[in-house]
Amino acid sequence: MNDCVFCKIVKGEIPSHKVYEDDDVLAFLDISQVTKGHTLVIPKVHYDNFLATPKEVMHKVMDVAQRIGQAQMLRLGAKGVNILTNVNKEAGQSVFHFHVHVIPRYEKQEGFKIEMKENNNLKDLSLPVLAQEISKELK
Ligand code: AMP
Repeated sequence: MNDCVFCKIVKGEIPSHKVYEDDDVLAFLDISQVTKGHTLVIPKVHYDNFLATPKEVMHKVMDVAQRIGQAQMLRLGAKGVNILTNVNKEAGQSVFHFHVHVIPRYEKQEGFKIEMKENNNLKDLSLPVLAQEISKELK
Protein backbone atom coordinates (compact mmCIF):
# COMPACT_ATOMS: atom_id res chain seq x y z
CA MET A 1 0.00 0.00 0.00
CA ASN A 2 1.68 3.16 -1.22
CA ASP A 3 0.25 5.61 1.29
CA CYS A 4 0.40 3.32 4.33
CA VAL A 5 2.72 4.69 7.02
CA PHE A 6 3.58 1.22 8.35
CA CYS A 7 4.39 -0.06 4.84
CA LYS A 8 6.75 2.91 4.57
CA ILE A 9 8.39 1.87 7.83
CA VAL A 10 8.79 -1.71 6.49
CA LYS A 11 10.43 -0.31 3.34
CA GLY A 12 12.71 1.97 5.37
CA GLU A 13 11.17 5.12 3.87
CA ILE A 14 10.20 6.36 7.33
CA PRO A 15 12.52 5.89 10.33
CA SER A 16 11.54 3.71 13.26
CA HIS A 17 13.10 2.43 16.45
CA LYS A 18 13.20 -1.29 15.72
CA VAL A 19 12.77 -3.75 18.54
CA TYR A 20 12.59 -6.94 16.47
CA GLU A 21 12.64 -8.01 12.83
CA ASP A 22 12.45 -11.26 10.88
CA ASP A 23 11.29 -12.18 7.36
CA ASP A 24 7.59 -11.70 8.16
CA VAL A 25 7.28 -9.51 11.24
CA LEU A 26 8.56 -6.13 12.39
CA ALA A 27 8.27 -4.56 15.84
CA PHE A 28 9.12 -0.95 16.66
CA LEU A 29 8.45 1.62 19.35
CA ASP A 30 5.17 3.52 19.06
CA ILE A 31 5.97 7.14 18.27
CA SER A 32 3.49 8.18 20.98
CA GLN A 33 4.64 6.27 24.05
CA VAL A 34 1.65 5.81 26.32
CA THR A 35 3.93 3.97 28.73
CA LYS A 36 7.71 3.43 28.64
CA GLY A 37 8.45 0.79 26.02
CA HIS A 38 5.07 0.82 24.20
CA THR A 39 5.77 -1.30 21.11
CA LEU A 40 3.87 -2.07 17.90
CA VAL A 41 4.13 -5.45 16.17
CA ILE A 42 3.15 -5.67 12.49
CA PRO A 43 3.27 -8.12 9.59
CA LYS A 44 5.56 -6.88 6.83
CA VAL A 45 2.87 -7.60 4.26
CA HIS A 46 -0.05 -5.20 4.40
CA TYR A 47 -3.38 -6.38 5.83
CA ASP A 48 -5.91 -3.80 6.95
CA ASN A 49 -6.52 -5.19 10.42
CA PHE A 50 -6.46 -8.27 12.67
CA LEU A 51 -9.67 -9.71 11.21
CA ALA A 52 -8.39 -9.36 7.64
CA THR A 53 -5.06 -11.09 8.33
CA PRO A 54 -4.47 -14.74 7.36
CA LYS A 55 -4.21 -17.03 10.36
CA GLU A 56 -0.57 -18.07 9.79
CA VAL A 57 0.54 -14.44 9.57
CA MET A 58 -1.54 -13.45 12.58
CA HIS A 59 0.03 -16.28 14.61
CA LYS A 60 3.53 -15.04 13.74
CA VAL A 61 2.64 -11.51 14.84
CA MET A 62 1.08 -12.73 18.10
CA ASP A 63 4.11 -14.92 18.82
CA VAL A 64 6.37 -11.88 18.58
CA ALA A 65 3.93 -9.82 20.68
CA GLN A 66 4.15 -12.45 23.42
CA ARG A 67 7.95 -12.41 23.35
CA ILE A 68 8.04 -8.62 23.50
CA GLY A 69 5.69 -8.63 26.49
CA GLN A 70 8.00 -11.09 28.21
CA ALA A 71 11.01 -8.90 27.38
CA GLN A 72 9.27 -5.80 28.77
CA MET A 73 8.65 -7.63 32.04
CA LEU A 74 12.24 -8.86 32.27
CA ARG A 75 14.12 -5.84 30.92
CA LEU A 76 12.01 -2.78 31.72
CA GLY A 77 10.68 -3.84 35.08
CA ALA A 78 7.08 -3.86 33.89
CA LYS A 79 4.66 -5.42 36.35
CA GLY A 80 2.04 -6.18 33.70
CA VAL A 81 1.34 -5.81 29.97
CA ASN A 82 -1.68 -4.88 27.88
CA ILE A 83 -1.79 -6.51 24.47
CA LEU A 84 -4.43 -5.10 22.18
CA THR A 85 -5.36 -4.48 18.60
CA ASN A 86 -8.03 -2.14 17.26
CA VAL A 87 -10.20 -3.12 14.30
CA ASN A 88 -11.73 -0.25 12.33
CA LYS A 89 -12.20 3.36 13.31
CA GLU A 90 -15.20 2.60 15.52
CA ALA A 91 -12.81 0.63 17.74
CA GLY A 92 -10.12 3.31 17.67
CA GLN A 93 -7.98 2.11 14.75
CA SER A 94 -6.14 5.01 13.13
CA VAL A 95 -3.49 3.21 11.06
CA PHE A 96 -5.11 0.64 8.78
CA HIS A 97 -2.24 -1.84 8.65
CA PHE A 98 -2.68 -4.66 11.20
CA HIS A 99 -0.71 -3.95 14.36
CA VAL A 100 -0.65 -5.19 17.90
CA HIS A 101 0.09 -2.78 20.73
CA VAL A 102 2.26 -4.25 23.46
CA ILE A 103 1.99 -1.81 26.35
CA PRO A 104 4.04 -2.47 29.49
CA ARG A 105 2.39 -1.45 32.74
CA TYR A 106 4.15 -0.16 35.84
CA GLU A 107 2.99 0.26 39.38
CA LYS A 108 1.67 3.81 39.11
CA GLN A 109 1.71 4.41 35.38
CA GLU A 110 -0.31 7.28 34.01
CA GLY A 111 -1.46 7.67 30.44
CA PHE A 112 -3.28 4.46 29.74
CA LYS A 113 -6.48 3.06 31.09
CA ILE A 114 -8.95 0.48 29.86
CA GLU A 115 -12.30 0.75 31.50
CA MET A 116 -15.08 -1.76 30.90
CA LYS A 117 -18.32 -0.56 32.38
CA GLU A 118 -21.54 -2.51 32.28
CA ASN A 119 -24.06 -0.79 29.99
CA ASN A 120 -27.33 -0.52 31.88
CA ASN A 121 -29.25 -0.14 28.60
CA LEU A 122 -28.32 -3.75 27.78
CA LYS A 123 -29.75 -5.27 30.96
CA ASP A 124 -32.69 -6.86 29.07
CA LEU A 125 -30.53 -8.65 26.48
CA SER A 126 -31.10 -12.37 26.16
CA LEU A 127 -27.62 -13.81 26.61
CA PRO A 128 -28.60 -17.30 25.31
CA VAL A 129 -29.96 -15.77 22.06
CA LEU A 130 -26.91 -13.57 21.70
CA ALA A 131 -24.49 -16.45 22.28
CA GLN A 132 -26.34 -18.54 19.72
CA GLU A 133 -26.23 -15.76 17.14
CA ILE A 134 -22.45 -15.47 17.34
CA SER A 135 -21.84 -19.20 17.49
CA LYS A 136 -23.88 -19.82 14.29
CA GLU A 137 -20.97 -18.32 12.35
CA LEU A 138 -18.47 -20.64 14.02
CA LYS A 139 -20.07 -23.95 13.06
P1 AMP B 1 -4.22 2.55 16.34
O1 AMP B 1 -4.96 3.73 16.89
O2 AMP B 1 -4.51 1.28 17.08
O3 AMP B 1 -4.42 2.42 14.85
O4 AMP B 1 -2.69 2.85 16.62
C1 AMP B 1 -1.83 3.41 15.69
C2 AMP B 1 -0.57 3.76 16.42
O5 AMP B 1 0.44 4.01 15.49
C3 AMP B 1 -0.68 4.98 17.34
O6 AMP B 1 -0.43 4.59 18.69
C4 AMP B 1 0.39 5.92 16.79
O7 AMP B 1 1.08 6.61 17.80
C5 AMP B 1 1.31 4.96 16.06
N1 AMP B 1 2.08 5.55 14.97
C6 AMP B 1 1.62 6.30 13.94
N2 AMP B 1 2.64 6.66 13.13
C7 AMP B 1 3.76 6.11 13.64
C8 AMP B 1 5.13 6.10 13.26
N3 AMP B 1 5.57 6.75 12.17
N4 AMP B 1 6.02 5.43 14.04
C9 AMP B 1 5.60 4.78 15.13
N5 AMP B 1 4.31 4.74 15.55
C10 AMP B 1 3.41 5.39 14.82
